[in-house]
Amino acid sequence: MGEDVRNVIIIGSGPAGYTAGLYTARAMLNPLMFAGYMSGGQLMLTSDIENFPGYPEGIGGPEMMMDLRAQAERFGLEVQDRNVGSVDFSSRPFKVETEGEEFFAHAIIICTGAEAIWLGAEGEEEQKGRGISTCATCDGAFFRDEEIIVIGGGDSAMEEATFLTRFASKVTLLHRRDVFRASKVMHDRAANHPKIEIQTFRQVKKWLSDEKGLTGAILEDPRDGTEHEISCTGAFIAIGHKPITEFLGGQVETDGEGYLIHREHSMTNVPGVFAAGDVVDTRYKQAITAAGLGCQAAIDAERWLEENHHQ
Ligand code: NAP
Repeated sequence: MGEDVRNVIIIGSGPAGYTAGLYTARAMLNPLMFAGYMSGGQLMLTSDIENFPGYPEGIGGPEMMMDLRAQAERFGLEVQDRNVGSVDFSSRPFKVETEGEEFFAHAIIICTGAEAIWLGAEGEEEQKGRGISTCATCDGAFFRDEEIIVIGGGDSAMEEATFLTRFASKVTLLHRRDVFRASKVMHDRAANHPKIEIQTFRQVKKWLSDEKGLTGAILEDPRDGTEHEISCTGAFIAIGHKPITEFLGGQVETDGEGYLIHREHSMTNVPGVFAAGDVVDTRYKQAITAAGLGCQAAIDAERWLEENHHQ
């Protein structure tokens, strides 16, 4: 096995992964990253990032991810655009399986992020990709001059609704209560947009469709159960994300919602396995905090490797 054992394998490629890649590469650890089939993570689906320091005019998500990747690669990060199927942390070196091939490393940094949550309302499965989506950047352009609804009350919902005004004739934002998690600036931007109407106390009970696709939804007022019907040909669900940890097969400790838990600095309950970014962050979930966590995990991994004489 000898030479085939890497110092570090990084799993996942958002801002956390690329920052961990940059730091471990600059530390001469010869890191290998499995970036996933769709490398770059959630920010590949984000149109404009205005709150990452260093970009006075803002920057597109995919553009920033390509820059982060190029920067890490310049120092020697090896990136493979494939998904990790499973891992074996029960013996050392750790084993990482991708497409039937096995790779080994002394330390692992998990940066797999999170994926969109679906509502699970009646009729949703059938309309996924036929009118119902969780990604405005990916699918918004299919709804030119059509009426669209967006579900959610956080920054994602505000961002998606505002972005969709580029295409839609009207965007109705539906939220289940009248208090918003969204930041004031993003809420106000949506609320003041002439194409956006915000309706509160509205939950999707059932999706309506015909042979061509989505036609609308039956909405319910959670206060008294009264029902309202809304017409739309497109719907975007923006109700948050859940961490991507299934491939770990329960070998790393998680909280009740599946987020990985840090035990010592950025190390998990498995010594030598570190975690960074949205897969561990229940609170901030920003590109800049993910990048910061990626940096911490890389430094912790470097020190752990040094102390454990693996280099
Ligand atoms: P979020 O802040 O957790 O908001 C999720 C929203 O969906 C909440 O309003 C929640 O309602 C609603 N919701 C959850 N489950 C629901 C259900 N089953 N039915 C109906 N509504 C449901 O998630 P997010 O908007 O994806 O944002 C996540 C993080 O990313 C935040 O920290 C945010 O600041 C950040 N973010 C930042 C930017 C930016 O700065 N450019 C853009 C996007 C996201 P309740 O409030 O009633 O629970």
